[in-house]
Amino acid sequence: MTEGPDADAARQAIEVATRLSLRAVGLDDAPGMDETPARVARMLVDDLWAGIFTPEPEVCEFDMGTDLDQVYAVGPITIRSTCEHHLAAIYGTAYIGVHCENTVLGLSKFARLAQWVFARPIVQERATHELAHLLYNRSKARGIGVVVRATHDCMKMRGVREPASTMVTSEMLGTFRSNGEARAELMKLWNAQGL
Ligand SMILES: [Zn+2]
Repeated sequence: MTEGPDADAARQAIEVATRLSLRAVGLDDAPGMDETPARVARMLVDDLWAGIFTPEPEVCEFDMGTDLDQVYAVGPITIRSTCEHHLAAIYGTAYIGVHCENTVLGLSKFARLAQWVFARPIVQERATHELAHLLYNRSKARGIGVVVRATHDCMKMRGVREPASTMVTSEMLGTFRSNGEARAELMKLWNAQGL
């Protein structure tokens, strides 16, 4: 994994840029906003875009010592992000389905990988695609399914101003794409999880 950009340098640059933006609208001296540029920098670097500054989480697989032909589902996993077009907040949940062979992935790794993939400016369709392929390529799973349901502030707060809309994306790989039975079994589990 290549080193990401330097987090300290990014915090400083974002702080300066935010202060300039506030100055442009005459708010850089506003009471209560003195710490705002530093807060914005920390929010982006340490939370919403943290995936840029941290290496890809490692995936551990456990050998079950027996052949498994099992479908399991993990979710909801909370994802927080910003859209790459407006840098407006995206908030939602991811659900992951696995058709495993004789190994299973460490359970917490699903949440770590999903949060890492989404913690950067994204387009939901592409991030869903990347998460599914990452899980599929890093594991020995026969199938991987990912569904993401999220709300986009850029749609709620501006433009069409549709506060109730959600966006749902899905990607099915391996047996979940090629085998109707495996996919139907995953759908049953996702139903049970309230998806
Ligand atoms: Zn947007």
